[in-house]
Amino acid sequence: MSVFLFLIDYLQRVNQFEVIIVGGGLAGLTAALDLARRGKQVLLIEKNKYPNHKVCGEYVSNEVRPYLQKLGLELNTMSLPQIDTLQLSTSKGSAIEVELPLGGFGISRYKFDNELYQLGLNNGVEFLHETAVDIMFDNDEFQVRTLENNSFKSKVVLGAHGKRSNLDLTLKRRFTQEKSPWLAVKCHYLNTEQPANLVSLHNFEGGYGGLSQIEEGKVNFCYLVKYENFKSEGDITSFNEQVVSENPFFQNFLSNSTAIFEKPQTIAQISFHRKEPVENHILMCGDTAGLIHPLCGNGMAMAIQSAKIAADQVVNFLENPNFSRTDMEGSYKSLWNENFRRRLWMGRQLQGLMMHTKWFNLGMNTLANSKTLVRSLIRTTHGTPILN
Ligand SMILES: Cc1cc2nc3c(=O)[nH]c(=O)nc-3n(C[C@H](O)[C@H](O)[C@H](O)COP(=O)(O)OP(=O)(O)OC[C@H]3O[C@@H](n4cnc5c(N)ncnc54)[C@H](O)[C@@H]3O)c2cc1C
Repeated sequence: MSVFLFLIDYLQRVNQFEVIIVGGGLAGLTAALDLARRGKQVLLIEKNKYPNHKVCGEYVSNEVRPYLQKLGLELNTMSLPQIDTLQLSTSKGSAIEVELPLGGFGISRYKFDNELYQLGLNNGVEFLHETAVDIMFDNDEFQVRTLENNSFKSKVVLGAHGKRSNLDLTLKRRFTQEKSPWLAVKCHYLNTEQPANLVSLHNFEGGYGGLSQIEEGKVNFCYLVKYENFKSEGDITSFNEQVVSENPFFQNFLSNSTAIFEKPQTIAQISFHRKEPVENHILMCGDTAGLIHPLCGNGMAMAIQSAKIAADQVVNFLENPNFSRTDMEGSYKSLWNENFRRRLWMGRQLQGLMMHTKWFNLGMNTLANSKTLVRSLIRTTHGTPILN
């Protein structure tokens, strides 16, 4: 073999993986870590460097605690706030508190994603900080191209590129045609009044927001609002003063807190539309397969659980000659539907309600006045702990 052919052959082999994961948020990082710990060659393509902040309420349901610990994440030594109570209030400030059956913990995405990234590195996941622009499937093999003009091949691709990405347009996914009127804002604050065991959800005109502690006693304040309501004020400062602060809980919080970020983070066009868990032979995980309304409170746990389900199917496909690609895709799809379809359906019903300000306020009022309803909503939108 000539030196040239040897070089080509070498380059083709180093760009070849068993699994490529596109997107290194919670779904991508967990799937990569799980697969690498089971001896699979994994390339994770993530456009941003770690650590970085993400718009999120940062309350994690305990459903995924045992699984995360099994993957090596030492949650017990991180001194994180343990949350066991949910508080809900109407825009006028009438409030109820209910116990959360499973509870959860508070951790910033800055820390959470970075801890999983470090574990991934230690377990042999290969990371590439580039933007994937295309995923092609041909001849029983994937080819993933990046903006930086690199190309990689694999037997399996997991799509974990989040709520909305350039890739969804390339892949012509249906939800990209639909309008998404939601905008989200997040900031961390210094505040001594937010109890460590409480996650609070408070309503205001056209939206709702949450308060909960994360590491080092800092408090996450994150809210979701319909763009048409937000644009009447034009900027975050006056929206917080004029609209958000109409709720006495937020008014009290904002006047007794100091923002840690120079300016809040925002994201627009958040889509809660229906998506498919398998498209173009790609197994979609986390928000790439469907985002639940944050009011239901456990998108992160769902992202992590979907990653685990995908990893299980991928290992079976790679190790068992009798488990075909069709079996892998079919089994992922049916397990995904079994675990998440009902929760997402409930989220979409709530969303339908929230698209109309009058019904939204009425809905929040009803919830904030009925512990039974809130408990039933929690039951419908949460799963049980993942134990193996
Ligand atoms: C306002 C709001 C509040 C929320 N609050 C909570 C909460 O309190 N608790 C909870 O459990 N859930 C909450 N959620 C939901 C939660 O944030 C998501 O479900 C979770 O982040 C999903 O993780 P993921 O890995 O699927 O996506 P992400 O964490 O978004 O990760 C996707 C990754 O893909 C990368 N990427 C995208 N495109 C490309 C590309 N082309 N090439 C390479 N990389 C790419 C991105 O950079 C990103 O890192 C909230 C959501 C919103 C909108």
